[in-house]
Amino acid sequence: MKLAVIGTGYVGIITAAGFAEKGHKVTCVDILPEKIESIKKKKSPLYEAGLDKVLKKLVGKKLFATTNLAEAVKDADVSFICVGTPSAPDGSIDLKYIKSASAAIGQALSSKKKFHTVIVKSTVIPGTTDSIILPILEKASGKKAGRDFGLGMNPEFLKEGTALADVRKPDRIILGAGDQKTLKVLKALYSKFKAPKLAVDTRTAETIKYANNAFLATKISFINEMANICEKFNVDIYEIAKGIGLDERISPRFLAAGAGFGGSCFPKDVKALAAASRAASYEPTLLNAVLEVNASQPLRMVELARSLLGELRGKTIAVLGLAFKPETDDIREAPSLIIIESLLRASANVRAYDPKATANVKTVFGNMVQYCKKPEDTLKGSDCALIVTEWKQVKALKLNSFKKLMASPIIVDGRRAFDPIKAKKAGLIYRGIGWRNK
Ligand code: NAD
Repeated sequence: MKLAVIGTGYVGIITAAGFAEKGHKVTCVDILPEKIESIKKKKSPLYEAGLDKVLKKLVGKKLFATTNLAEAVKDADVSFICVGTPSAPDGSIDLKYIKSASAAIGQALSSKKKFHTVIVKSTVIPGTTDSIILPILEKASGKKAGRDFGLGMNPEFLKEGTALADVRKPDRIILGAGDQKTLKVLKALYSKFKAPKLAVDTRTAETIKYANNAFLATKISFINEMANICEKFNVDIYEIAKGIGLDERISPRFLAAGAGFGGSCFPKDVKALAAASRAASYEPTLLNAVLEVNASQPLRMVELARSLLGELRGKTIAVLGLAFKPETDDIREAPSLIIIESLLRASANVRAYDPKATANVKTVFGNMVQYCKKPEDTLKGSDCALIVTEWKQVKALKLNSFKKLMASPIIVDGRRAFDPIKAKKAGLIYRGIGWRNK
């Protein structure tokens, strides 16, 4: 089939690559010419492991890129909407990109004779596909959904850092369709993907995505709350997580206590679901608590540093890891940003290291932070190191290099990158959220 993928962010470009690998002809569309130029040059506009290799192989053969949405849609059988759905200042979903992309697709469909199917992949609040996107498409195209064009909702579950593997081998595929013709198109599109497939209506598909992210975020806030309680009881949360993770009803995943969750999805999706539920007159007590616990976790690291250093003013603090998790350059809602802001406000000198996300963080803090090329350079002469992202380059640091390089070997670890007993043996003052002083 011929596909147009609208929006070439993390979801769009990976979706495009995944379908192109299965033999479909895919055209990536974006409003930012620099992203399109980069794809045309077979270079990914963002960092995701293995993506450049796929682009090298498929661009010009199965994968194309353009800023001309109308041409791409006219040439395609199916359009995927993969634009961003950020948070509005009050936490509710901001649909401006969804609305403008839908209007542009609708306009392109107005002069198209062949049946076309539009699939929403962006994460949108229940009801958005049918009550917002559908009327925009109908108005702009002058056509009728279900009769003249198809409309479906197919949420994406990829994880940045392992995104290519996730789209190649998904846990499940949710096929949200309001009509049989659209469902047939979705089934054909995914026929070569081996995964459990669940056919539902669009509203259910939209809600599955939010329930999924809300559950995982809840699991993280739960273990963080337990970590905060464990500190009071002088018990190690990592041993607790190991113990409860062996219960197969719980599973060991998403039980890493520390600086909290960030990224482009969990914070904004939980906030959007909470806001939508509030607007529908249900106060989401649990979701509110999930967000509240998460908001305080990064600051707990700063507090721990302050309690060990006495005072942060004038101290040099090494921040190891900036991306919201390893193997991505994404810093959206990253705990590192909250931590750095708080350190700067306390008049500390901040040095930072990240193998991929430094350029993105520079756009936020500019030269208020000293950026280092190697983790060791960050440590030289510093008074305290905060481990915020567990990159392999950080975990590979030798424990004695902290002792050798730092002015005082105080480490606050938000990700349990090292064994606390070994750290103590190496002469480090090594603390983290939710564990006792071993
Ligand atoms: P992103 O912000 O990285 O990318 C969105 C892209 O869309 C940008 O390149 C932007 O320029 C482009 N765009 C905006 N309006 C456009 C238009 N009218 N025409 C063409 N391009 C346009 O977003 P993302 O992280 O890829 O997320 C996209 C959606 O997928 C969101 O709803 C997100 O919640 C969801 N999602 C994200 C992830 C993830 O890990 N990033 C995972 C699952 C679902």
